[in-house]
Amino acid sequence: MDRETGKKKRCTAILLAAGRGTRMGSRIQKQYLRIQDRPVLFYSLYTFEKSEVIDDVILVAGEGQTEYVRGEFVERYHFTKVTRIVEGGAERYHSVWEGLKAVQAEGGTQERYIFIHDSARPFLTEEIIRRAYSDVEVHHACVVGVPSKDTVKLVDEESFSRETPDRRFVWVIQTPQVFDAAIITGAYAKMMSRDVIQATDDAMAVENELHIPVHMTEGSYENIKITTPEDLDIAEVFVKRCFPEL
Ligand code: C5P
Repeated sequence: MDRETGKKKRCTAILLAAGRGTRMGSRIQKQYLRIQDRPVLFYSLYTFEKSEVIDDVILVAGEGQTEYVRGEFVERYHFTKVTRIVEGGAERYHSVWEGLKAVQAEGGTQERYIFIHDSARPFLTEEIIRRAYSDVEVHHACVVGVPSKDTVKLVDEESFSRETPDRRFVWVIQTPQVFDAAIITGAYAKMMSRDVIQATDDAMAVENELHIPVHMTEGSYENIKITTPEDLDIAEVFVKRCFPEL
């Protein structure tokens, strides 16, 4: 809810599905691999479709795949919130930028929140979306994550341990990453104008380009990213728990 007006602000999800997923070692891109007979990409689309927070979805598909995605997902499953399907780019940040340009093309960088989500995370829940919405209202920039269960070491080029951060302050970052539209668009516009770009998540753009603090929102240990083949085995277990109605 908007604090001044009492109204809920418009929430747009940019759902990324343009990756090649080379670490999976499969010919099929990981967003199209199946968990319990449905493709990975189906699940986050389904959660956004049912969500009371998310108003619309911009889907970022791989090069030459927009019509495939429209037919196989949006039309087949009747996902009515998908307003645009755009082509992504070579790196994740290129794909996010294409999504943000689609938001700008709608003339809408004001007065809305942008939820950037990796389709490779099928176990997003409405609870996480709600927590992120509450946090972005207060902090304007927040990313979903979980405290690290493992000790983390920073290492040097020769794989020697250089530093062991205090585990209380180490979070593992997930998606969605949620921002005021003007903040994330401004951060990306600045970042994309640089010659060398290093950004493995969206918070980095906001931190590095605008120096705006990014708040952590509690995600879940089930909100895993499907990256390597063993993740698919785990996903088979989680899908029954997270989507008992399917
Ligand atoms: O490769 P990685 O697991 O980090 O990808 C995270 C998410 O970003 C995936 O959902 C993938 O489809 C998306 N992505 C993208 N465009 C790229 C690379 C990744 O949309 N060029």
